[in-house]
Amino acid sequence: MKEFELIKKFFVELTNRNEAAQNLVDDVAKISLKNDEELVVSKDLLLEDYHFLRSDGAFKIASKLLRANLSDLAASGAKPLYYMLGFSKNAATDEKFMRQFSRGLKSVQDAFDLCLIGGDTVASEKLFFSVTIFGAVKKGKNMARSQAVENDLIFVSGNIGDAFLGLAMLQKIDLNLDAKNLSKTEKKYILDRHFFPTPQIELAKKLSEKKLSKCAIDVSDGLFSDLRHICQASKLDAEIYLNELPISDAAKKILIKNPQINSLDLFSGGDDYELIFSANTKNKKKILELAKNLKIKISCIGNFKKAVKQKFAITLRDAKNQKIKIKKFGYEH
Ligand code: ADP
Ligand code: MG
Repeated sequence: MKEFELIKKFFVELTNRNEAAQNLVDDVAKISLKNDEELVVSKDLLLEDYHFLRSDGAFKIASKLLRANLSDLAASGAKPLYYMLGFSKNAATDEKFMRQFSRGLKSVQDAFDLCLIGGDTVASEKLFFSVTIFGAVKKGKNMARSQAVENDLIFVSGNIGDAFLGLAMLQKIDLNLDAKNLSKTEKKYILDRHFFPTPQIELAKKLSEKKLSKCAIDVSDGLFSDLRHICQASKLDAEIYLNELPISDAAKKILIKNPQINSLDLFSGGDDYELIFSANTKNKKKILELAKNLKIKISCIGNFKKAVKQKFAITLRDAKNQKIKIKKFGYEH
């Protein structure tokens, strides 16, 4: 399929006729902002055989692409507005692929209320896809990695480690995982957490609007690794408690059946797209109420401390308050 045919047939409908997209016939898109808002922008790029396999199918590839990028936006507390798409095509991106790809994008943009406003398309032997996402946040309310404060509590949304186990279940990493003790529903839950992560857009927006938190990061590389990014940016140490780190019931069942898996690997596996955020102790009650209203699991896993040696270190403690050494922090690019 020629580039223009592809754009007309599959991409124009994803613009929702939004004026910013100019029907995908101009050289540029055009974004208007309200006076009291700031534009927040982020980009992700996924490469074939590295971030996805062709055999994953176009629906899953497209959904993950947009969901992962939305998660970056969530870390700022912004409301999603638009995205631009970098698209590669070759013999594999036939009509069927395109239908599934655009359905994948549509399902996510409908759920999170944003639309396509432009992009670029090139032919390439290996496939790669990129999204640049645009969101808006009220001036001065942007959450950032650098804004944690000494004695702030550390919170994390959802469960950590399911996506890592999903990858092992698909045998994309060699863990020799035995999941026979899981029900069908539990297996689907674990796999869905790998293919369809839930960016915590609503939670982050509320946290920033209600001034409950000023600092967040999304967990893409691994809980330990991304928490360390906050420590470094905010120049703080952190202390966290193994018993408070949230894992799903399905993940617990997998750990029981698979002694070869070190439970700490769940927290360095990455791809969770949950939110780590900091907050003053006085906001804890309101945060837990918000969690209840939004029906989101939120765990308080520890707190930030003054940096003793400027190492911005994370101390992990077990139930007996003993220190546990973290050997692997996360996925490295
Ligand atoms: P140029 O020749 O300046 O690179 P293009 O011919 O690539 O422009 O694009 C024409 C129009 O189609 C532009 O509005 C562009 O934003 C849009 N477009 C091209 N590729 C994509 C894509 N993958 N997704 C969305 N819009 C696209
Ligand atoms: Mg172009």
